[in-house]
Amino acid sequence: MPRHIALVAHDNMKVELLRWAEFNRDTLAEHVLYATGTTGTMLEFELGLPVHRFLSGPVGGDQQIGAKIAEGQITMLIFFWDPLEPQPHDPDVKALLRIGTVWNVPMACNVASADLMISSPLLGSDYENRRPDLTPRAWEDGRPAGG
Ligand code: PGA
Repeated sequence: MPRHIALVAHDNMKVELLRWAEFNRDTLAEHVLYATGTTGTMLEFELGLPVHRFLSGPVGGDQQIGAKIAEGQITMLIFFWDPLEPQPHDPDVKALLRIGTVWNVPMACNVASADLMISSPLLGSDYENRRPDLTPRAWEDGRPAGG
């Protein structure tokens, strides 16, 4: 079952992401790929695979990916954010990490985690992320389990 995988890398991390994606190209080719603008352009060029591109991260791309996670369309996130340099869109970075956690989406934020995630036997299985019930009704009696 193809996953819907979003890939995002801050500028200082783009080479690392491209190298990782090239190494895992054949696996990635089995899935539907999404990315923020610049990351997506580079990935398409390097991999020769179609990538659904959103706006560039700092001008709304992170938020667009977050929205697709909330809607259930994107089910996995490879997010090489830069831990050593402040970003103009730091609030968006935090929001994306937060919404991915809310919706129980697997997220890898460095190469080691991405390696383990992409090579997991669950990736090619019918395993589906459990999506918490966060409908307004589920909140009527307080915070729902897993929410
Ligand atoms: P970019 O955005 O792929 O357009 O560079 C990444 C980000 O900064 O979130």
